[in-house]
Amino acid sequence: MLKKLVPELIALRRDFHQYPELGFKEFATQKKIITYLDNVGVKAKKIAKTGVVGALSGNRQGRTLLLRSDMDALPIQEETNLEFQSKNSGIMHACGHDGHMAMLLVAAKLLAQFKENIAGNIILAFQPNEEDAGAHKMIEENIIEDFKVDAAFGCHLWNQLETGRIDICDGPAMAASHYFYLTVKGVGGHAGFAHESIDPIFISSHIIQAVQSIQTRQINALDPAVIMFTSIHSGTNTTIIPEKTVLQGSIRFLYENGEDILKKFEQVVNGICNLHGAGYELEFKKGNDMLSNDPSVAEVVRKAAFSILKDEKKVTADIRTMAGEDFSEFAARVPAAFAFVGAKNKSQPIVYPHHHPQFDLDEDALVLGSELYINVALNYLKDIF
Ligand SMILES: [Zn+2]
Ligand SMILES: [Zn+2]
Repeated sequence: MLKKLVPELIALRRDFHQYPELGFKEFATQKKIITYLDNVGVKAKKIAKTGVVGALSGNRQGRTLLLRSDMDALPIQEETNLEFQSKNSGIMHACGHDGHMAMLLVAAKLLAQFKENIAGNIILAFQPNEEDAGAHKMIEENIIEDFKVDAAFGCHLWNQLETGRIDICDGPAMAASHYFYLTVKGVGGHAGFAHESIDPIFISSHIIQAVQSIQTRQINALDPAVIMFTSIHSGTNTTIIPEKTVLQGSIRFLYENGEDILKKFEQVVNGICNLHGAGYELEFKKGNDMLSNDPSVAEVVRKAAFSILKDEKKVTADIRTMAGEDFSEFAARVPAAFAFVGAKNKSQPIVYPHHHPQFDLDEDALVLGSELYINVALNYLKDIF
């Protein structure tokens, strides 16, 4: 049934790929999605500035499942030489969100054709700005309450997994992320009289090393956590001890109640600065909450994946990642699950990682992703066809 729609599925993905838009600027993308949904008989409207929500009601009463696709591209200059490469200079669909939109649109078309047989409602959520935690805007605009959502499902095409495989785990799947902004305040002076200064570079180097002990000495080594410094700025030349060092980075964890690590981080910073007589300013900003899969929804997804791939070995539960995903906003409010759909194909070769200027995805995976949306919806709503 889906086979007939494969050319349409690929054409949709390529069109989104050619005209990528950054987070909360997905205006043309939004328009295309609304037009498509209108044409297949799904009522759709704008939400969260550049997002779209469509509602598909079955002919009988039942539960309500939200299916989510993200929409945004990245500020990357594409270097793929694909015939359908980006026409928007400096912007590229380098994460696969073009594929997600195509998969969910075609799934909506097929589900709409069978709505007499569906008990309940399917909410099609096209969410803007995933790369910068944009899901909260849909939540603030009450998508969960207004549509009385009972559960949610999302997926990501994944280039670390071969095409023909689907991965879904129970519990923690993608990490919580918090960003830190630290300024170590010393006393500047001459490099020849260091004892008369308080050297913020020297102190910062201690902090960078010392906080790495938190993961094994202050929290259980079996609880995954990383503390990454991604930016350091200080000083001007070879003879001046600077006044301050400005450091940034992220703290990520993949276990319940891991927020404690932020306090422990500050304790170490505070201790080392005190030791050397330096001051500091420290701010945290939250990125994503941890994404944890509800086992009962994950089971629905697993069964849907079995029915598509027809081989238990191809449905795995291996992928847990320290990357974040703002689908966690939905998962924090209703039972939800998030799957990875393999899109790597060494023979083509399609091997570049997400966010790479040569990123591409195996279009055979689009069919599997679209079928997954459909089968999860039908299984969850206990269809009768
Ligand atoms: Zn991404
Ligand atoms: Zn992504």
